[in-house]
Amino acid sequence: MPYDNDNIFAKILRGELPAFTVYENDHCLAFLDVMPQSDGHTLVLPKQSAQNLFDLDDESAKHLIITVRKVAGAVRDAFSPDGIRLMQLNGEAAGQTVMHLHMHIVPCYANSTPRSHAQQMAESDILEKHAAKIRAAIH
Ligand code: 5GP
Repeated sequence: MPYDNDNIFAKILRGELPAFTVYENDHCLAFLDVMPQSDGHTLVLPKQSAQNLFDLDDESAKHLIITVRKVAGAVRDAFSPDGIRLMQLNGEAAGQTVMHLHMHIVPCYANSTPRSHAQQMAESDILEKHAAKIRAAIH
C-alpha cells in the first residue's frame, strides 16, 4: 500500500491537526499519545513520509534514533519511571494503527502495568501538563 498523505500523523506534521508537542527538530516531531499507555507516553515521528521502518532512509533513521534517545531522556527526567519501553509496529498484522512510522516511548512503573494500546483517551488538560513537564526537561 502506498503512503497515505491524509493519515492523522501526516496532518499533524503539516500543522493541520493539533498535537501536544514536546520537541521538534529539522528531521523529527515528538508529541504525546492521546490514548497513553502510561503517563508521559510520547511518540517520535520522522518528518520523512515513511509508512514503516523499511521505507525510512538511512539519514532519517539516524536522526530518529538520536531524537528518540533525547526525548526518552526528557521523559525519564520528567516522570522518573522505573523503566522505559520503546515500541515500533510495522503493518496492521503487527498492530500498527496509524500508517506513518513512529516510535512509542512508554514509561513503565514497577507497581503498575501499562494500559492497553490505543484504548482510552486522556483529558486534554492533563496531557498539556504532561507535555509541559517533558518540554521543561528537554536539554
Ligand atoms: P500504532 O498502533 O500505529 O503503533 O500507534 C498509534 C498510536 O497513535 C496509538 O498509541 C494511538 O493511541 C495514537 N493516536 C491515535 N490517534 C491519535 C491522534 O489523533 N493524536 C495522537 N497524538 N495520538 C493518536
